[in-house]
Amino acid sequence: MKYSPRFRLFPTEEQRDAMDWQRDTVRQLYNHALREFNNIPEDAGTLRQRVWSIRDTLPALKDWWPDLNKVYSTVLQKAVERIRDNINNLGKLKANGYDVGSLNWKKPREYRSFTYRQSGFELDTKSGPNGRGLLILKKLNGKTREIPVRLHRDLPAHEQIKEVTLKKEATGAWYVSFCIKTDAPPKPNPEDIDSEDTVGLDLGVLKFVHDSDGRSVQRLELSDDRERLEREQRSLSRKQHGSNNWEQQRQRVAGVHARMSNKKQDFKHKLAHFYTTEYDAVFVEDLNVKGMLESPQNARNKAEVGWRDFRMILEHHGEKNGCHVVEVEPRGTTKECAECSVETQKPLWVREHSCPSCGFEVDRDWNAAFNIQQRGWNRLGVVHSEGTPAETATATDTLEVSASCVCRGNLDRLSDAV
Ligand SMILES: [Zn+2]
Repeated sequence: MKYSPRFRLFPTEEQRDAMDWQRDTVRQLYNHALREFNNIPEDAGTLRQRVWSIRDTLPALKDWWPDLNKVYSTVLQKAVERIRDNINNLGKLKANGYDVGSLNWKKPREYRSFTYRQSGFELDTKSGPNGRGLLILKKLNGKTREIPVRLHRDLPAHEQIKEVTLKKEATGAWYVSFCIKTDAPPKPNPEDIDSEDTVGLDLGVLKFVHDSDGRSVQRLELSDDRERLEREQRSLSRKQHGSNNWEQQRQRVAGVHARMSNKKQDFKHKLAHFYTTEYDAVFVEDLNVKGMLESPQNARNKAEVGWRDFRMILEHHGEKNGCHVVEVEPRGTTKECAECSVETQKPLWVREHSCPSCGFEVDRDWNAAFNIQQRGWNRLGVVHSEGTPAETATATDTLEVSASCVCRGNLDRLSDAV
């Protein structure tokens, strides 16, 4: 399995210039190599052989192109090999019926990245400024440079990192992605997990999720689609069963159904992706028990179907992203005070938790999410930090996140909350 976690870089002005210089030098090399490649007759060898024959000229090339000496050797090799990747991709496009020409020169805005392979890089996870890591790159415009990087989750062992790609986005921001090949991404050892890198999720009826970091994610708003569905269904019932008009209308109804279902799936997948990439462990209540605890009202039953679906999607993303997804006992998560464990009865309409024993006051669902997180720590064996829920909850307000914000992929807003 191959995956590529991506992290934001925070280069200094000088480092930024060096990366821009390197990106452009590598681009020029690519264009040069492409010109050479096009001069080689196709029958001179396989694609790989022809591309490698150019790669083999790199040492000689450095004699008349001294700037290449300031670039790490595997970065140069990767740039030449990119010709082969691009031709293979063109082939795939052609196979899919796209009209594609031959490979073109890359203009500056079309060439945004360069890649180190196997060596020439190191990752220091903690010596950067503001708790950041450092990405150490050799021969970046001639010098070894240490670029601050925001690492938001544990990385696998260094030897599993096959390639490091630096990319400048159109916004001007630089990112690094690590190409990692494993059987499955490893989940961090529970004893190595920082309790702050875990999250408790309270799945609700009124909101979809309230998490222990204070985010409240609204349910998906589908009332427009529901109205449309009713309209189309009414229209269907007026048509003569089995007629052409009826068949057309039936398809329209099916279309609305499919669109609603896609929206729901998309929403849950994006949310699950966010939580399993942002955290090392995600804790949720055991839904088999939770379902029995909740009274069998229609709204709850509907919500429960959604929870189960989300729970499975979460599991899938957890495996993919190397994140623990752990179920905890749901009994009393709402009643118990997350600060002092004293239980208080709370009907559903009481939206605030206000503890008569210790005075802890917080949103009812947030209190439940704290309890879920703490139970998760015990269940998984995460060493607790000294912070208490009261400190966290008073330091930040609940952040309301709309479902459309999740669906647009605007999850930066979710990460800014913590
Ligand atoms: Zn209390």
